[in-house]
Amino acid sequence: MKIGFPRALFYYDYFPFWSGFFNHLDIELKISPSTHRQIMEDGLKRANDETCLPLKLLAGHIQALKDVDAIFLPRMVSGEENAYNCPKFLGIPETLLAAVPPGMPVLSAVINWRKGQRQVLKDLQILGVKLGKSRAEIHKAFLRGHECQQQYQESRGAGWNFEEKIKELESAGGGTLKKSNGNCMVIAANVPQTPSKPLRITLIGHSYLVQESYANLNLLQRLREKAEVSLIQHVEPKEAEAHLSGLRKKLFWSHAKQIYGAGNKFVEDPTIDGIIYLTCFGCGTDSMVQELLAQKVRKHHKPYMVITLDEHTGEAGLVTRLEAFLDMVERRKAREGYVSAYGKCLDSHSNTL
Ligand code: SF4
Repeated sequence: MKIGFPRALFYYDYFPFWSGFFNHLDIELKISPSTHRQIMEDGLKRANDETCLPLKLLAGHIQALKDVDAIFLPRMVSGEENAYNCPKFLGIPETLLAAVPPGMPVLSAVINWRKGQRQVLKDLQILGVKLGKSRAEIHKAFLRGHECQQQYQESRGAGWNFEEKIKELESAGGGTLKKSNGNCMVIAANVPQTPSKPLRITLIGHSYLVQESYANLNLLQRLREKAEVSLIQHVEPKEAEAHLSGLRKKLFWSHAKQIYGAGNKFVEDPTIDGIIYLTCFGCGTDSMVQELLAQKVRKHHKPYMVITLDEHTGEAGLVTRLEAFLDMVERRKAREGYVSAYGKCLDSHSNTL
């Protein structure tokens, strides 16, 4: 059996789990190609106009899956005990059925860690029945997937994302890449560090925006050419959690907790010269978290830029803004003793960033 797995949204955070799970069951996963123009256009035609860019891209990737027996669209309700994913994750697969080619079967599974491991296993058993697998097989596949996901989480910071980590190690030839029988990649060496650059910039945003190079117009790569870049995805969850204090109410969306907690850590880090927040038009959680973080940034007088992506974002505009921002950070660092003579007054009395 060959199952299609779209290279979008949940792919960037949860693919290691599903890869280990399906490979243990001897089911081949076919991943859609990297995003290109046609995928984006197909997604725009089939997704709801009001939805966010990552959902539109997911609709395009679903249509790009050819020669498969079914398409897999999991409903990732919650990835940890005390938080939920964004409500748009919860609406999958129903909200995307219009993008599924006619006659193509859709497989789904509910993953809700808030209800505990026993419930996750129960829900996977329902998927197992559809796949013709026994309870024992599903249990073993679940453990394998869980192990793969943990290995991926623990290797945070060793590379840039699941795919790039593997490519970097292979090309460097210095690391050991083990391919276990469950096809779960284990990285056994640190990725060589890129030569240090004079500027240190943090790029904040959802993994599926930061690492989606077609939609973000290669922003991460452009930035890495000019500065040392830190990502919130490289921050340990415990460390991000420790920086959540000070909020009157708890954040209950996983991505929002990661963005605000890890973002806060970088805002308070004096070695970080500037912060870029990458968001997309129509993101409900970012509309709140971005403002919370902006307030913190103003207090710490850090250069800060928000880039909002949508399907119309043009390359020239993005490159100009990026270069202007980096020039400003560089000048400020070199000539103003790191504290702007004007910014203090402006920052405390206005919302101007
Ligand atoms: S968190 Fe924002 S970008 Fe992500 S799925 Fe939800 S609305 Fe879309």
